[in-house]
Amino acid sequence: MERWRFSTKAVYDIFRNHGPKVGWHSLLLGPCKIPRYSFVLWMAILEKLSTMDKPWLSHLGGVCVLCGREMETHEHLFFRCNYSRQCIRILKGMVRFTWPNRAWAVDIAWASKRWNGRHIVQAAYRALLAAIVYHIWQERNRRVFQQSAAELHYC
Ligand SMILES: [Zn+2]
Repeated sequence: MERWRFSTKAVYDIFRNHGPKVGWHSLLLGPCKIPRYSFVLWMAILEKLSTMDKPWLSHLGGVCVLCGREMETHEHLFFRCNYSRQCIRILKGMVRFTWPNRAWAVDIAWASKRWNGRHIVQAAYRALLAAIVYHIWQERNRRVFQQSAAELHYC
């Protein structure tokens, strides 16, 4: 007869929600991760950032503050917006960074498969994606809440 050993982990495993595994969790892991970058990337992947298309922000007009042209959605910010596309272009000029720029969810699935490994290069790509998403979101927030804009600098 097998004895059951009490542990906090065993109790937690009994009561936690065993939902379906997601493919993108690897994008949030790795030695190069910066927690606040990973958090914003996680929110962006789940499309939970408070973009202007959310019903509770409809009074703000819904237009993207980075380009002033289209409705601000996750799909638009990452990376259909002219501003974010320019960020990707600058990044591609510095490192060999490939981003297919199709639908956001499709690209996240693509990146999850492509940058899934433990190799430092794949970890660096994951960190780059988290960093660019974080800084685009920061710039968006700076423009919304402080009415100021930072210039993009080419290195
Ligand atoms: Zn835009």
